[in-house]
Amino acid sequence: MKDIEISIIAPLYNEEDSVELLYQKIKEAAVKTGKAYEIIFVNDGSSDNTSGVAAALAEKDQALRVVEFRRNFGQAPAMAAGIDLARGEILVTMDGDLQNDPDDIPMMVDKLEEGYDLVVGWRHKRQDKLISRKIPSMIANRLIGAVTGVPIKDNGCSLKVYKAEVIKNSPFYNEMHRFIPALLSLSGVKVAEVKVRHHARQFGESKYGLSRVYKVLLDLMTIKTVLSLGQHPVRWFVKLSVLPFFVSAAIFLGSVDQAASSNVITSTLVVMFFSLGIFLVSLGIVVELVYFKGSFSIKDATSLSMNSSLMDEKK
Ligand code: UDP
Ligand code: MG
Repeated sequence: MKDIEISIIAPLYNEEDSVELLYQKIKEAAVKTGKAYEIIFVNDGSSDNTSGVAAALAEKDQALRVVEFRRNFGQAPAMAAGIDLARGEILVTMDGDLQNDPDDIPMMVDKLEEGYDLVVGWRHKRQDKLISRKIPSMIANRLIGAVTGVPIKDNGCSLKVYKAEVIKNSPFYNEMHRFIPALLSLSGVKVAEVKVRHHARQFGESKYGLSRVYKVLLDLMTIKTVLSLGQHPVRWFVKLSVLPFFVSAAIFLGSVDQAASSNVITSTLVVMFFSLGIFLVSLGIVVELVYFKGSFSIKDATSLSMNSSLMDEKK
């Protein structure tokens, strides 16, 4: 049998009415790419008959693999599981509710083969609610662009086509998948954006509302921190510590020639800000150790010095 060339992955949570049509449409699209394909459905602990419908389809078609989660873990873990299991050199992720159109896949694969590592779908005529979905998403896209410096129009579109090697080890948790195009692009991966179709949900209902905004913001904070830390976490923390050290010194100096120097509140403030400075620097050192623990460890350093002392003894 020919090796799998393309894997198409869709997470499914209570999508019993979409599964069969989705499967047929993906299959048509996969055939159009002319590649040896597999379809991976990840059933994310659905409480409806998604599992039954998917299993019946998989029984008749070896190209369809179904992964079953024991409970509902969320869209990102479901996508991550599919990506982990995928065997193709090209991976496609998409929603399983037919809002993304499988018919766009061949065009996106062609784009990838023009020499990109990742092709991101842009839902330019997005069929979702304005207040709870489109506006938060517009703000999120702006924020992600500002934080990462990579302006991608639609970070939240699940329909993406990847070269497997660029995505297999990327962080896929919480809402982190949103940042992947920007982050990968920062690490030199070639990203293209293409307009894709987007349909209103035909069956079932959306699993998300405004609560996702809060999660996206938290993840954005993580990304901002990781990007700011760069290769030198300790420098970043030392910069942060400048302000408390400065405040502590200013209060101390300001109170030197006044009788207030004995004031308990003043000395408490001096000690408090000074300790905060020390705390930040120490935290910086700890983060530095965590970051670079793979490349340098105290054990290596001691064994090196032991070796050199052994060599000294031999001399
Ligand atoms: N999904 C999932 N687990 C969840 C929530 C959603 O696997 O906990 C799947 C869902 O079945 C769909 C995709 O993720 O295939 C997108 O979900 P949804 O349509 O609810 O999100 P929206 O399109 O409203 O952003
Ligand atoms: Mg949807």
